[in-house]
Amino acid sequence: MSRYHTPLDLVRSRPVEGPVACARPDRLAIAATWFQDNFPGEVLYAVKANPSPWVIDALYRAGMRWFDAASLPEVELIAERCPDATIAYMHPIKSRHSIRRAYFDHGVRIFVLDCEAELNKILEETGYAKDLILLVRLAVSNEGSALPLAGKFGAGEAEAPDLIRTTRAHAEELGVSFHVGSQCMAPGTFRATMAEASRLIVKAGVTVDIVDVGGGFPSPYPGMTPPPMADYITAIRDAFEDMMVLENADLWCEPGRALIAEAVSVLTRVELVKGHQVHLNDGAYGCLFDMVHAKWPFPIRVHRADGEPSQQTAEFKLYGPTCDAIDTMPGLHTLPADLAEGDVIEVGMLGAYGTAMATRFNGFGDVETFEVADFPWTSLYTGGEAEAPAPAATGTEPRVVPFARAQRRRRNRLMKRRG
Ligand SMILES: *Cc1c(COP(=O)(O)O)cnc(C)c1O
Repeated sequence: MSRYHTPLDLVRSRPVEGPVACARPDRLAIAATWFQDNFPGEVLYAVKANPSPWVIDALYRAGMRWFDAASLPEVELIAERCPDATIAYMHPIKSRHSIRRAYFDHGVRIFVLDCEAELNKILEETGYAKDLILLVRLAVSNEGSALPLAGKFGAGEAEAPDLIRTTRAHAEELGVSFHVGSQCMAPGTFRATMAEASRLIVKAGVTVDIVDVGGGFPSPYPGMTPPPMADYITAIRDAFEDMMVLENADLWCEPGRALIAEAVSVLTRVELVKGHQVHLNDGAYGCLFDMVHAKWPFPIRVHRADGEPSQQTAEFKLYGPTCDAIDTMPGLHTLPADLAEGDVIEVGMLGAYGTAMATRFNGFGDVETFEVADFPWTSLYTGGEAEAPAPAATGTEPRVVPFARAQRRRRNRLMKRRG
């Protein structure tokens, strides 16, 4: 992967056909280190947010050894690149073939389920294995999330206690998991959801070894500045201490967005300016999927290979490259008034659900990747610390660290036992 100092250097050094992903592995390492140092338990990277090989490799180099895979290809990707990693197969609905392959070919022992039919599939396809670590996915409210995910997966209040009890009988270790929704803007949502999970565990009347609080940790997008990440850690740690679980129970989380969003921006080329219409080579079927379909606010700036764009601005409507009318970015964008063919628009904060979303529709979808070393638009992490304003961060540090160490010791024991 060629390396440039900044995206502008890249634009000035080579023709950008694009789209081009500008990768910042150093930023990813900082986020990964922050999570591993501060989350009082196991951190599983949610592969679906960005399965690019450079992302997996950079996480691995930063010490990440646990991965949340949602499909057999994701299991295979991690098995291939991270030989000693622990892979959790966390899609509540899995094909029988993929369960078999994951268990027998790739050593996967951790599976999630949200109903008895899926439990039976897992048991049948693993030959009623005795070493399964099974998590029951709970349906929870997604209030407080910018991108709710509720309604599709999860055992509801009525079924969950029975399912937890039934699963206990087949699991070497039993856990509960949930997802509060992506880009959760309120740390209290984790606290409330964990209290809800605790109630369901009490109703089930069995012991639980693992509490997996899922993903949903936010990133700073324009107009969507989340509370400091340390507040989420505090909320989760406090709620965990109040939960009715085994004293030595494990705590897991599955961040996707918060680890990778900041670390990638995407360059898309202006192919034509027609009045106030700007036609780009990326859009609704490419890396800008969320910009269109989730109307997500991404930061934008313009790079020109020769000379500087005008300081004067005008409002433009942005269009993607495919023939589908859906391929139109919502709203208007304020850009240099002399925007012209060949200019490059850099869209920031696209590490999560950016390149991962690109399709082949209309023959588009190839994305080149180059490494850059500039600071991203904004960051929740600076040099391994959660960025200011985060007065709570220092106050919580002394409690968080020893707990995290204790959790790691338990993990090491577990790893040894599993051989
Ligand atoms: C998508 C997903 C994640 C990652 O979510 P983020 O909002 O990107 O942190 C984690 N766990 C599960 C089960 C998911 O489906």
